Amino acid sequence: MIDFNIPPYTGKELTYIKKAVESGKICGDGIFTKKCSEWIEQRYGTAKALLTTSCTHALEMAAHLAEIKPGDEVILPSYTFVSSADAFVLRGAKLVFVDIHPETMNIDERLLEEAITEKTKAIVPVHYAGVGCEMETIMKIAKKHHLLVIEDAAQGVEAFYKGKALGTIGDFGCYSFHETKNYSMGEGGAILVQRPEYIEKAEILREKGTNRSKFFRGEIDKYTWVDFGSSYLPSELNAAYLWAQLECSEQILNDRMTTWNFYHESLLDLEKKGDLVRPYIPPDVTHNAHMYYIKTKNLDERTRLISFLKEKGIHCVFHYIPLHSSEAGKRFGRFCGEDRYTTRESERLLRLPLYYGMKDTDRQYVTEMLHEFYRTK
Ligand SMILES: *Cc1c(COP(=O)(O)O)cnc(C)c1O
Repeated sequence: MIDFNIPPYTGKELTYIKKAVESGKICGDGIFTKKCSEWIEQRYGTAKALLTTSCTHALEMAAHLAEIKPGDEVILPSYTFVSSADAFVLRGAKLVFVDIHPETMNIDERLLEEAITEKTKAIVPVHYAGVGCEMETIMKIAKKHHLLVIEDAAQGVEAFYKGKALGTIGDFGCYSFHETKNYSMGEGGAILVQRPEYIEKAEILREKGTNRSKFFRGEIDKYTWVDFGSSYLPSELNAAYLWAQLECSEQILNDRMTTWNFYHESLLDLEKKGDLVRPYIPPDVTHNAHMYYIKTKNLDERTRLISFLKEKGIHCVFHYIPLHSSEAGKRFGRFCGEDRYTTRESERLLRLPLYYGMKDTDRQYVTEMLHEFYRTK
């Protein structure tokens, strides 16, 4: 059986977890958390990176820092994971979904202005598959209408738009280190804060509403409760696992890219024959090989392909059911404009197995079976 995903493991993870245990500190904000956040800050150039317990929680923090209030509107794609929406629903916001570009599955920036009302507070671009959204246009529109931009860069670690790291372009950026993402700590994430005026607020929010971060830096001699907060900091055990991955970030990226490129080259002939469609990477972006997907003719063909591959021992998955057509999506949001591509394209998309350390023979087998399906279909 060829798995769809295997969590990344590079070899040093257990050594670092052991080190964390031996250091006598396994709660949050120890040496490994510090190493990871400084790595993100230095490599990607952001004012502040704070590790969180998940990307969902990073988005929640961003929604709180953006002071989203009941009745405010937030614009996002319907084709995304539920977390992009949940964070704003929690604060009583109304979701306004807009359509996507069929080539990248990213929010169509040309539809944003039509969706903006006097209640709009923020735009949430989701960098699907680690392929950057059209951020230059999005930032221009946000500036013109005084909106905040919260990037859901869960899939975008180590990916770039016009040379800038995804997650560092908007006001806030949210990363995921879930086991299905390129770099992992089991469950975890990070919030990237670009504007200095939000940094201290973010630290307080993450540490139960206390100024404990300032205390640890020696800036004050005791810490107190200063504002509303929660507990968004991961344990050192998780951070130790992540550090082993970040240290090998290029090795992981190159390995994933080898599989991505292999799929892309091997499936060119099927695309030329009109059997399937391959992902499109716009010229301004550098993707991170987070995902390889194909598009079938329609839902029926995808269903047949999934069961064909399953019979051949290959596990492939699809996502997402568009949020606007789900029970909660209907309750909390509305679709602005016409759903030209969201539903149609989501029904065609199929993700192929892709993970760190995938064997050459396995990826070859996957492309052979795809060829067999289209020969015999
Ligand atoms: C994975 C993912 C999330 C959630 O990440 P967690 O770390 O599991 O909370 C949010 N948005 C997108 C687009 C994702 O792919």
